Amino acid sequence: MNEELIRKATELLLEGIGEDTKRDGIQKTPARVSEMMGEILSGYGTDLTDLKKSIFPDEFSDMVLVKDIEFYSMCEHHLVPFFGKAQIAFIPDGNLIGLSKIPRIVDVYAKRLQVQERMTKQIADKLDELLSPKGVAVSIEASHLCTMMRGIKKQHSKMVTQSFSGIFREDKSYLQQFLLSIGSDTAKELDIKLDV
Ligand SMILES: [Zn+2]
Repeated sequence: MNEELIRKATELLLEGIGEDTKRDGIQKTPARVSEMMGEILSGYGTDLTDLKKSIFPDEFSDMVLVKDIEFYSMCEHHLVPFFGKAQIAFIPDGNLIGLSKIPRIVDVYAKRLQVQERMTKQIADKLDELLSPKGVAVSIEASHLCTMMRGIKKQHSKMVTQSFSGIFREDKSYLQQFLLSIGSDTAKELDIKLDV
């Protein structure tokens, strides 16, 4: 990331807004913004290949679910945050991963300029690639400041995006198990008889 460019751009932005870039409160803002961007957009340049070391063989074959993974990301259309929680599950096929690594995957994709839909798919694809599981399910619910702050009605509405692969697409009982586990209303709407 080019910190110098971000400093200059922030100064221009302030000028464009009509601010006095030399006044006390704002003088250091370009430097602060540049430093902050480095931190909140630190997901670039991380390909997560080091996570392969955290994968280990195991016979466990039921659903593994990591719930309520908090994240903060930046909307690439408006450069303001969107934030929320991710629910991530997979059905193993011989491989498990250290559970702290799953929030790390979320973090790496969240700390970029994003749209929620793409982020959801990227997280699911990465888990598929790393673990070759029987299936992956990702559900993300987020609040977007670009809609909340701009006086568009429904300011408290949240956006939900989901991505399913493998067995979650093929066998609706897995999908229902996932949706029930995360407390989704969709689970009740799925007209499925579970043969348990
Ligand atoms: Zn936006």
